[in-house]
Amino acid sequence: VDDEGETTYKRITSNQIMGSIQLGIQYAVGGLASKPERDLLIQDFMTVETKVFTCDGANLTPAHRFPQFSFKIYAPIAFRYFRDVFGIQPEDFMFSFCNAPLRELSNPGASGSIFYVTDDDEFVIKTVTHKEAEFLQKLLPGYYMNIVQNPRTLLPKFFGLYCYHCNSKNIRLVIMNNLFPSWIEIHEKFDLKGSTFKRQASPAERDKALPTFKDLDFMEMHQNGIILTPDMYDALCKTMERDCRVLESFKIMDYSLLIGIHILAKSSEACGEVVGTSNGVTVVPDVASTSSKNKKRHLYHTTVMESIDKRVSNQDTIRNSSGGIPAKSDKGEHVILFIGIIDVLQSYKLMKKIEHTVKSMFFDSDTISVHRPDFYATRFLNFMTKTVFHKSDTGQVPTTSSHK
Ligand code: ATP
Ligand code: CA
Ligand code: CA
Repeated sequence: VDDEGETTYKRITSNQIMGSIQLGIQYAVGGLASKPERDLLIQDFMTVETKVFTCDGANLTPAHRFPQFSFKIYAPIAFRYFRDVFGIQPEDFMFSFCNAPLRELSNPGASGSIFYVTDDDEFVIKTVTHKEAEFLQKLLPGYYMNIVQNPRTLLPKFFGLYCYHCNSKNIRLVIMNNLFPSWIEIHEKFDLKGSTFKRQASPAERDKALPTFKDLDFMEMHQNGIILTPDMYDALCKTMERDCRVLESFKIMDYSLLIGIHILAKSSEACGEVVGTSNGVTVVPDVASTSSKNKKRHLYHTTVMESIDKRVSNQDTIRNSSGGIPAKSDKGEHVILFIGIIDVLQSYKLMKKIEHTVKSMFFDSDTISVHRPDFYATRFLNFMTKTVFHKSDTGQVPTTSSHK
């Protein structure tokens, strides 16, 4: 944040970055319209297109009020293909980015990345380091081989990789799916890794209206975890296991499970519907349709229910159009969960080796969050399947925690 109270990144104001990104993406997506659809070729992952945006405008770029910049578009054809896999029409993508100004989110992370979200809350834009962008570029063919084979995944979906260049500064950006819908209020948020070392929200974070809590906070706030129906629990665990194996195969670590919790009792007046349990299953009112911002997401396979391959059938007692997972807190509250794996661009191979050796000389190497990818995945899964999520067989809240 600069003297005038405006956020800057690499000394460039957010306004300038956001405005320029919008122009860049408009060009990137609009320009693709002239290129016919075709099957992906391996070189499509390597192509980079650069466009200069002069202030006065040019043949294909409009005049603008920002300093001249250039915009690099990584693997444009490949990302078009991925957007298509997830049902994102070019005009919808463009509309999300260009119809209204982007919003900046406050980032609880230590990395200093900046997050923006599109006005319709569909997409999140994150600034990434040179190393992370390079890693994503290399990862792309393999990562998407996994995702396209199996779109039912909690892994982040990347819809674009760009580099904004101005005044000899580079700002690299990835576009991802936003895990939290805008029309449902999130009451609690957790960023969990399965590590306990320094995994507690800072006092400054706790002061925020919606803090992002961490592992130690979770264990304190939900001593008996979150209770799911058996089939929901199984589907979620199976998906997390498969996803962790994919991450492990790329030697990725340091990722988190992001959980947003909507507590139904806190929105009951907005819904005006009876909430109860039937056979231990949370009956979820149609939160989305009673909300003022009533709209459907146009992305495919991106709600968490779809991600773990649980489609809500008509016979089901669960009525839930929010796309979240119905569950119960350890306090017996009915909740809806929004879940995804985030921050997957750290490769052990590339940058963690040195850090690990140095840290393990000073700390107990089992509790530090930087560790071998297989150890990381195993510990992550162990924490999620035993401490965070619990299977209900009786509909009753368990009285003892398995994590002791
Ligand atoms: P770190 O210091 O952990 O490296 P970072 O800058 O790499 O942080 P992330 O860990 O990717 O950032 O994300 C930080 C926070 O931003 C998360 O805890 C979460 O609150 C929010 N966030 C990240 N990705 C998403 C997403 N796809 N949808 C919604 N919120 C997100
Ligand atoms: Ca992180
Ligand atoms: Ca990170």
